[in-house]
Amino acid sequence: MSSPAKVDCHSCRHFRHAPYEARLEGCYLEKNMVSKQKQAFLDEQQQPGDHDKINRNGDCPDFHAREAKPSLWKRLWALGA
Ligand code: SF4
Repeated sequence: MSSPAKVDCHSCRHFRHAPYEARLEGCYLEKNMVSKQKQAFLDEQQQPGDHDKINRNGDCPDFHAREAKPSLWKRLWALGA
């Protein structure tokens, strides 16, 4: 019997990278967060969950793959270039 494929937080849509997507890097799935703010202007105070700890074995049940990025051509087309 083969073991299930391991999941990588960097490919999960709940993961945000610092500094471009969030001030602190980590898991932004609400139930995994250390502190969550409802108001968008309080985003800076949010504390994400420790993705390394939560997904230590690569078997996080909440993994949700990010959508594939459209090709450069499609993105330019959408801009009307
Ligand atoms: S801990 Fe789970 S839900 Fe959070 S970013 Fe990693 S795979 Fe996604």
